[in-house]
Amino acid sequence: MPDRSLAAHPSHRPCVTAVLRIAGLRPTRQRVALAELLFHGPHRHISAEQLHAEASTANVNVSLATIYNTLHQFHEAGLLREVAIDASRSYFDTDTSDHHHFFVEDEQRMIDIPADAVEFKTLPRAPSGMEVAHVDVVIRVRKSQPE
Ligand SMILES: [Zn+2]
Repeated sequence: MPDRSLAAHPSHRPCVTAVLRIAGLRPTRQRVALAELLFHGPHRHISAEQLHAEASTANVNVSLATIYNTLHQFHEAGLLREVAIDASRSYFDTDTSDHHHFFVEDEQRMIDIPADAVEFKTLPRAPSGMEVAHVDVVIRVRKSQPE
């Protein structure tokens, strides 16, 4: 029985494997499967729980703990950006370039804000011996209430 998913994307798997190798990660079966789910389309923001649900749908059987570990490994390797919403919730962004976010509270969804749409008049100086690595802005929004 031919592997249809592979046949549908003949060049995709080698590409994901190469990306993982360049990032210094061994392309294990699970990493390749999760990388394919994460990077197959346009840039997006995804939580561990959402990726876990997508993996189940795609018949990729991995535990939520493995998903967390893999997302953090991808983040540390520079393949993903982590956007923390609160202490218990993070989204992972496949777009690692500098930009900010709206967080739509009722929909638990992130929308990109271009980096140059936010200007800082004053930023505090970094504590002695430190430098600012980057500045993340998350603007929380909700549906406006009808008058
Ligand atoms: Zn983003």
